[in-house]
Amino acid sequence: MGKSSKDKRDAYYRLAKEQGWRARSAYKLLQLDEEFNLFEDVTRVVDLCAAPGSWSQVLSRILIKGEKFGRTGWQDRQERDRQYVYGDEVGKAHGGIHEVEAVGEEKELKPREGVKIVAIDLQPMSPLDGITTLRADITHPSTIPLLLQALDPETFDPAATSAPHPVDLVLSDGAPDVTGLHDLDIYVQSQLLWAALNLALCVLKPGGKFVAKIFRGKDVDLLFAQLKLVFERVRVAKPRSSRASSIEAFVVCEGFRPPEGFKASLDNPLGAGATLPANPDMAKEKTKPYRKMREDGIIELEFGSEDEDTQGDIRWVAPFLACGDLSAYDSDASYHLPKDRQSLDPIQPPTAPPYKRALEMRKAAGGAYGKTKGMST
Ligand code: SAM
Repeated sequence: MGKSSKDKRDAYYRLAKEQGWRARSAYKLLQLDEEFNLFEDVTRVVDLCAAPGSWSQVLSRILIKGEKFGRTGWQDRQERDRQYVYGDEVGKAHGGIHEVEAVGEEKELKPREGVKIVAIDLQPMSPLDGITTLRADITHPSTIPLLLQALDPETFDPAATSAPHPVDLVLSDGAPDVTGLHDLDIYVQSQLLWAALNLALCVLKPGGKFVAKIFRGKDVDLLFAQLKLVFERVRVAKPRSSRASSIEAFVVCEGFRPPEGFKASLDNPLGAGATLPANPDMAKEKTKPYRKMREDGIIELEFGSEDEDTQGDIRWVAPFLACGDLSAYDSDASYHLPKDRQSLDPIQPPTAPPYKRALEMRKAAGGAYGKTKGMST
């Protein structure tokens, strides 16, 4: 698919280039923020799986530069109809201003004090002002000290397993290279999510937030229940810029509440085993999980029985919210564009895409089929 046909078929791809975002994913974070007010009182953030960096751009513009964004809808519905939906002539007759603020509309700039943002990815990421970038694998234990050092370089203690000055928000937009085999993709994605959660547990402050991409597979409710062990509120959200046809969604966890006596540890990262109290009296304290030894020696997790959300059952269904203004682009729709419209180049081409080597091999071989007839590349 060429750049300009992708512009038609993916309004957010086109808009991202027009508005200076490195990836269309920026709109997902902006729309999640519209719904959950994610950045309120937030100054210290970790952005996991951050390349090419559009979420870090959003963080930089809101926290460091102090920009405010309106709703990701249309300021002028007539303009949308004219240009993109009905074509010029029909659009003029179609009228009707719809009062929604446009993306990127600048209000009073209010930079925040003491902002610290650390972004991590397997891929190299082009620098962004005020953001510490690390090239590392979030599933590898050696990334934890790297992250702790990046967060507090002056006071870093190599023996520490948690941050002395914890963070307010951990984001993870991690996605594996999708194979198309749903079960495998969901499994690999869930491993990324656990890795992100383990890192979050080492650096989040009580009351902090964790937002991560998930793939909605058949056992996703189990995952929500497990997240509910360490967060007060767990909700699932689907931003309008995330295609309805995709199994992607975002889990938004608020109110981090490490269980009593919890210490972040690489051996027992979720704190779900021996670090949880074994006391069934905990059941009386509505929201706290405790561990219960079964006759066969297996440890099960229990919630307080009066907790109406969980009713003592490990399976728990998280509330689901669609977010993003209804007047915003539909990510599954194609839009008409003027014939003479110039397609823009991406803001930040991938620095080291996984397909780079394949392209080099193809070029060296003289094109798609190689110089030798039938040669596959
Ligand atoms: N949020 C990013 C943005 O706004 O530009 C887009 C993230 S992209 C959808 C997913 C990223 O996950 C890729 O850059 C990929 O390199 C990264 N990723 C996948 N597995 C990873 C891992 N094990 N450790 C670190 N990053 C990983």
